[in-house]
Amino acid sequence: MRLIVTGTGDAFSNSRFGSSSLIETPKGFIAIDCPGSPLMMYKQAALSTGLDVDPAAIHDIIVTHLHCDHAGGIETLAFYRKYIAPGGGRPGLWAAPAVMERMWERLAPSMDGRQFGEEPKSKLEDYFAPGLLSVEHAVDLAGLQVRARWTRHSVPTVGLLISDGDSTLGWSGDTEFEKAHVEWLSEADLIIHECGQAAKHARLEELMTLPSELQEKIKLIHVPDGADFPSSPMERLSDGDVLDIKTAVRETT
Ligand SMILES: [Zn+2]
Repeated sequence: MRLIVTGTGDAFSNSRFGSSSLIETPKGFIAIDCPGSPLMMYKQAALSTGLDVDPAAIHDIIVTHLHCDHAGGIETLAFYRKYIAPGGGRPGLWAAPAVMERMWERLAPSMDGRQFGEEPKSKLEDYFAPGLLSVEHAVDLAGLQVRARWTRHSVPTVGLLISDGDSTLGWSGDTEFEKAHVEWLSEADLIIHECGQAAKHARLEELMTLPSELQEKIKLIHVPDGADFPSSPMERLSDGDVLDIKTAVRETT
C-alpha cells in the first residue's frame, strides 16, 4: 500500500495544506481528512508526485474530527463530486459516532439549500454515502480494514489503524501525547503521528521518550511552520511525500 501525503500543516500554516493523506486502493483513494482548498491540494499533490491524484477517484473519505484543518474541505469536495464530476457516484464519508453526530450540523448551513425559513432541500446522504467507524471492531472501506481509537483532543477525534492484511498504517489523529495511544498504533508498519507542539497536541520532546525502534517507524505531520527540531529518528514529512506503508520508506517520485 502506498500513502500520498497531501498536507502536513496545522490549522495556522501559511505554506502547507492541512494534515491529510490519500491511500491508494484498487477501488480508488481513501482520503484521510479533507482540509480547506482540497481541489488545489490534490492538484498540487499531482504536480509534486507526478501521480494521477484525481479527486473524482476518491472512493471514501475518513474524517478524524471536525476542526477546519481536517474537515474544512468537505463542502467543496461534496459539491465537486455532485455537480462537476458526478461520474464516480457518491463517495463514502466515514467518521466515528460522536464525530458523525455533528457532521451535518457543521455542513448544513451551506449545503442544505434552505432559504429564509424554508424547509431544507438537501441532506448529507444526497452528497455522500455516510458510514460509521467503530472503536470496537474493524470496518471495511474499499477492501481495507479500518479500526479507530479515541484520542485526547479538544473535540471528539480518532486515531486510525488501516490494514490490507499485508501492511498496516497507523494514523495518530490530532492528539495529546498518550503512551497508550502510541502503543495501540505500534502494530503498524508506518505510523504518521501529529506533532503540533501546543496544548491538546503532541510535542517532539514527548515523542522522543518512545523506544527508538518505535521512533524509527514514526513520521511527523501537523508540525507548526518554522518549528526548529533537533534531529531524531522521526522524519518530518512534507506535502507531496509518497511513502510505502510496508517499509515505512519515503519514495522519491
Ligand atoms: Zn484538531
